[in-house]
Amino acid sequence: MEKPLYPSQYMRITQSHTEGTHKDSYAIDEAGSDAGIDYMRAPFTGVIRKIYTQDANEVWLESLDPVLYPDGTIDYLTMLFAHDNDVSDLKVGQIISQGARFYEEGTAGNATGNHVHIECGQGKFTGSGWYQNQAGYWSINNGKLITDCLWIDDSIRILDSHGYQFRAIEVTPAPDIQPVEPDEDVVEPDVPTDPEGTEETVQPSIPTTPKLIFTCPKTDMYAISLKKNQKLYLE
Ligand SMILES: [Zn+2]
Repeated sequence: MEKPLYPSQYMRITQSHTEGTHKDSYAIDEAGSDAGIDYMRAPFTGVIRKIYTQDANEVWLESLDPVLYPDGTIDYLTMLFAHDNDVSDLKVGQIISQGARFYEEGTAGNATGNHVHIECGQGKFTGSGWYQNQAGYWSINNGKLITDCLWIDDSIRILDSHGYQFRAIEVTPAPDIQPVEPDEDVVEPDVPTDPEGTEETVQPSIPTTPKLIFTCPKTDMYAISLKKNQKLYLE
């Protein structure tokens, strides 16, 4: 099950859901790495349900399947994005894969400076997708706090979280490690013994505070994927 990921690789939130034009909503503004235009990655695999070009080029993306929210909720998630200057590349019904670049910062709809206005709503797209709230602003249906909807991970650099505390996706290597059936014909290598104890034992350099990432559940053969120059210490 997918975990919806915060869409900008550079988190710089410039307006929270309690401020100004976001009153009575859960909207935030994401301004990216700098004053230029950064792109957003699709937070989950979803389908575009609505594009509204008469205001701020709003796009509603609904998850194809239920997703796992950081607050433990399992449900569909619909998100609203606004201010991309050009959405002519997007179509209603288009499927966007999680992580795919699909929306950009902009100033469409008289925005001050390049940014993306982001809102999360629990469940599938409903009605017209939004409603006029008590402060007079149009807001996504079934709005929900962004930190209860989106996760972060190591690919996201936090420049300014504006006080929001996002839950990080923990790296758990265990599911990727598949036990491999041991080969019956494996012969133990003949390790020469050193009865006199004269040979110098070379100890590998091991970090003083190794980080436990995986406890081997049983004696077996394991396949593990390592990055170049990454060190693996076994106990
Ligand atoms: Zn906004």
